[in-house]
Amino acid sequence: MRLDQITLNLVRLPLVHPFQTSSSRKEHLEHILVRVATDDGVVGWGECASPADPFYCPETTETCWHILHDFLAPMVLGRKWTTIEELTGCYRLVKGNAFARAGLEMACWDALARSQEKPLHELLGGTRTEILSGVSLGIEPDVEVLLDRIGQFLDEGYRRIKLKIGPGHDVDVVRRVRQRCPAIPLQVDANSAYTLADLATLKQLDAFDLLLIEQPLAHDDIIDHARLQAGLMTPICLDESIHSAADARKALDLGACRVINIKVSRLGGLLEAKRVHDQCHTRGVPVWCGGMHEFGIGRAANVAIASLPGFTLPGDVSGSDKYYRRDIVDPPILAVGGAIAVPDSPGSGVEPVEDEIRAHTLRTATLHPKA
Ligand SMILES: [Mg+2]
Repeated sequence: MRLDQITLNLVRLPLVHPFQTSSSRKEHLEHILVRVATDDGVVGWGECASPADPFYCPETTETCWHILHDFLAPMVLGRKWTTIEELTGCYRLVKGNAFARAGLEMACWDALARSQEKPLHELLGGTRTEILSGVSLGIEPDVEVLLDRIGQFLDEGYRRIKLKIGPGHDVDVVRRVRQRCPAIPLQVDANSAYTLADLATLKQLDAFDLLLIEQPLAHDDIIDHARLQAGLMTPICLDESIHSAADARKALDLGACRVINIKVSRLGGLLEAKRVHDQCHTRGVPVWCGGMHEFGIGRAANVAIASLPGFTLPGDVSGSDKYYRRDIVDPPILAVGGAIAVPDSPGSGVEPVEDEIRAHTLRTATLHPKA
């Protein structure tokens, strides 16, 4: 295959409900949709789901645009490749910038699957026909509002609840949720908001039978997490700290976590996500699929990777109607009874609605191979 054209579209969609984490509040999201076209006339789509601010990771929407436009696209346009390993080899000199790399790589997986007329999950080695879907709830200043929202999602059939926590919004909130929902699988995500000095607070969370505590300590730490895990009964799950299969190996070898959140964007694409999955599966370490509130294109890629056998915990991949009134793909990705069907049509299994994308596009750029 050879990429003859890459189009970047900066697309803004409003959120149905504002989302608050320990570090930021969002009312709409701007993601870059990457459209690739091959010399055989095959088109693939990817999504670069970076936050606009550098509060989750160092990347932002604008750094992704810069890296895609000025480095990644020129490095792959006009080059021949037959496997994703060969494709990613074209830009192996680019360090970091995982979200930017993931957007381009995802589009190439979609194009590769479509050119072979196979569903993406089949290329990845997926075995599930549906994935179990949980919801992730942001920090709500009013706990009653949070409890009402949880009740609503449980009524819709979601099978696991994840709460964002932060200092001052942790033990009491979790206690009230646990009192209201004694049996629901429950986990919390701190997005790096604590330090080892908070051990006493974090130990109190052991009382609530949580599935896991996600990324309690620094975004770039493994060592302190190993010390914390030794003092907690609840499994630690690492998110922000894991950028590669090598990071996952080090974290597991050191005992820094017992679960890993696999996020396609954070790992620079589906290939590295699969490598982390394969390693954890071999070691018997459970994984689940995290998300970045993707639009339908990135969400479809999450569904495909979450169909692999080691994804034994419900993930954050929920129906897109939870976030967006109208998504930019057809059919929309919906959770029914807490599960999302893994589509069997070629490629990612969804078709971008180009009119809808155009209506929400803030900026676009089309690149071709240098003559
Ligand atoms: Mg997280």
